[in-house]
Amino acid sequence: MLEKIYLGIDVGSVSTNIVAIDEENNLISKSYMRTEGQPIETVKQGIQALKKELDGKYEVAGVGATGSGRQLAGILVGADVVKNEITAHATATVNAVPEVRTIFEIGGQDSKIIFLKDGLITDFAMNTVCAAGTGSFLDHQAERLRIPIQDFGEYALRAERKIRIAGRCTVFAESDMISKQQFGFSKEEIINGLCEALVRNYLNNLGRGKKIEPPYVFQGGVAANVGIRAAFEKELGEKVIIPKNFDVMGSLGAALLAKEYLQSTGQKTKFRGFEVADIDFVPTSFECTGCSNLCEVIKVEIDGEIAAMWGDKCGRWTNNIR
Ligand code: SF4
Repeated sequence: MLEKIYLGIDVGSVSTNIVAIDEENNLISKSYMRTEGQPIETVKQGIQALKKELDGKYEVAGVGATGSGRQLAGILVGADVVKNEITAHATATVNAVPEVRTIFEIGGQDSKIIFLKDGLITDFAMNTVCAAGTGSFLDHQAERLRIPIQDFGEYALRAERKIRIAGRCTVFAESDMISKQQFGFSKEEIINGLCEALVRNYLNNLGRGKKIEPPYVFQGGVAANVGIRAAFEKELGEKVIIPKNFDVMGSLGAALLAKEYLQSTGQKTKFRGFEVADIDFVPTSFECTGCSNLCEVIKVEIDGEIAAMWGDKCGRWTNNIR
């Protein structure tokens, strides 16, 4: 009999992560792909790669989907649970650091803060509009300064003098960095200033009016940046924990939630199998003119049959699938 595993799929607009965990929650596989505006193709490629790695060695006993493309991914693969990013991230973090009180999550295109007590979410905030506090902004600045992004944090730690960079938005931050460079500050000092600005901006925007309490956990792709971690610790005056799988916490949480759900209900997985890459999967969208909401409704067909619809605020379409 093959060992059971659970898949977690996190489809964001910038990246798609897929993990597989075993029944003891050990990570068996993890992959990171650029979504590049093609979530369907990206998920199919990820599943195809997993097939090569895992098919014949393990039995997929459940699948969870999360991220902004979670409905799409859920339909495509036949997910057992589809959960929002806040729930998925918090689930993975509580599993790694049960006593966590505050989660800082900074990814490629958005950031979140999640507050917990006794393992339960009490509050959260998300930033999906301002790029100044995200990984893509740091990538852009690393490129502009001609520094590999993986060395960015190390540069910050080598800064000799402190400088303040205006971090309120990408335009201000970039022009301030350029002017500080012209004044003769070193790359190290500018990068350190930028890391501190990003953390200040993040805490001001997402943590405003909230009680930010330790233990703190920092996750998401940007948690690899030691300069940002140091800036958090300096600002908060407290250690910040980075979990081992900090870069795939969303997909890890989705896998954990799928496992928990299937084990508690005793249901069989709806996973379509590793052959999903061969399924003819056609998404279309239309604007519903039924009322002034003018919802953008997404329709997905598989082999000419409507498999799913979503995006309608009132349930007019989702409730009428045959
Ligand atoms: S889906 Fe419902 S809420 Fe949305 S526009 Fe149509 S009738 Fe209005």
